[in-house]
Amino acid sequence: CGIVGVFGTPYSVQEAYQGLLLLQHRGQDAAGILSFDFNTKSFHQYKDLGLISDVFVPSILAGFEGTMSIAHTRYATVGPKNPIDSKRDIQPMTINYPHGIGMVHNGNIVNYFELKKYVQVEKRRHLFTNNDLEVMLNILSDGLREKNVPNHFDQFQAAVKTLFDTAKGGFSSVGLLADKGFFAFRDPHGLRPLILGERKLSEEEKALHPGHFGKSYCFSSESNALNFLGYDVIRDLAPGEIIFIDQTGEIFSSVDYSKTKGIAPKSCMFEWVYFANPESVLEERSVYSARLEFGKNLGEEIKELIASGEISPDIVVPIPETSRVAAISLSETLKIPYREVLIKNRYIQRSFILNTQESRKRAVQLKLTAIASEIKGKNILLLDDSIVRGTTSKRIIEMVKEAGAKEVYFATTCPPIRYPCYYGVDFPDPKELVASDKTTEEVEAYLGATKLIYLSTEATKKSIGKESLCMACINGCYPVDIASAQNFQDMR
Ligand code: 5GP
Ligand code: SF4
Repeated sequence: CGIVGVFGTPYSVQEAYQGLLLLQHRGQDAAGILSFDFNTKSFHQYKDLGLISDVFVPSILAGFEGTMSIAHTRYATVGPKNPIDSKRDIQPMTINYPHGIGMVHNGNIVNYFELKKYVQVEKRRHLFTNNDLEVMLNILSDGLREKNVPNHFDQFQAAVKTLFDTAKGGFSSVGLLADKGFFAFRDPHGLRPLILGERKLSEEEKALHPGHFGKSYCFSSESNALNFLGYDVIRDLAPGEIIFIDQTGEIFSSVDYSKTKGIAPKSCMFEWVYFANPESVLEERSVYSARLEFGKNLGEEIKELIASGEISPDIVVPIPETSRVAAISLSETLKIPYREVLIKNRYIQRSFILNTQESRKRAVQLKLTAIASEIKGKNILLLDDSIVRGTTSKRIIEMVKEAGAKEVYFATTCPPIRYPCYYGVDFPDPKELVASDKTTEEVEAYLGATKLIYLSTEATKKSIGKESLCMACINGCYPVDIASAQNFQDMR
């Protein structure tokens, strides 16, 4: 999912909307915005299934106002698939006591079922959705009921720390406290990204918002949205960091939770591999340059296969879009021409896929066309970012062969994905992950490639340039215990 939060400008709704558009790649299932207007002391909200630009048509945006807003674009990893129930799971979500709290989050709570039971049985609350955010809101609101706490920040950070103690998983969140302020926090390992930006208000904005604070803050899953909206990137929130901005615009932060508990940072490596926009910089590491390094380091590994005569590629071909950047540096490293001979049809978002082999094949061909004249008779080195189920890769290899390729080699800028993700990325049951129970040779045979080449785990880390990464989907070492997550599979 992608999240944005804007505090302090009368244009907060417009900025949240535009920022969200730049995060559309993080989720295409549903979109929503919640704003709060300090002048009228009221919330405004709109959300629906679909792409952001389809949900927020001009007539909806025209009357949508507020000086602080939060926004969410959804990528459903759990929950019902039918439109009636899945509509209820769309974020933002609100709870009316105390104050009125609205929140969005990106990630997954691993012990959701345990917490759901706790909220329903112990707290005697009815839950209306299948979304873990609703459980988080209930726990957070309980923490905010304490009376006689000297200030909102102390109260807020205590409530979030209780949430950290109970809710396990990966979750970056931003939210609103009606009339009281704005907040953001990142899970104790920092599994999901969240970045803070700041900018000065224009004279026009100051005139429109008499109670202004001189500046506006923006939180976003990725830095590309901050750049677009003209915010200076201040920093990534630290793992376990809690930020509160009160109604006077004063900003408070607490970073002690993870340090005190000795919880190690674990950024999701898959953000650099696939998820994030190449323009973004996460944890001070550019996604674009990490992808260039993936291609270069993969090239060093492939050079040995070429030297030994095992493979002899004529051209390097990216599978659009993600692998393009890495394919350029792979081609440079190997000194083998880069050719975009798989063309993506940019007008087809989704194809109605019938459940027959022929129809699925046509669906891939509808989205991607092979330039046969450039492929015929050549040895093709295809590059993709990752192999998940293996179905797309298998069909693309078939397509390239049908276009007349002599040999098809398949390389990816990620090691084999063998384990599901419980922290917010849609990796399925192990039985659906093609590499979960197969050796590289077996996956190679399944895909129909002459040679399958995965970037090694070491080279993946080296390319990203960080030691403290989550790589659980690769090595099964889960930073947050997944023992209580077994039922999670049943919800898909
Ligand atoms: P598969 O191996 O599942 O057939 O397809 C892998 C392709 O899906 C890769 O090209 C990759 O770009 C894309 N992909 C990687 N991760 C995800 C994900 O979490 N969700 C979706 N929908 N696609 C993904
Ligand atoms: Fe990212 Fe994989 Fe860890 Fe999930 S398991 S958070 S996809 S690195």
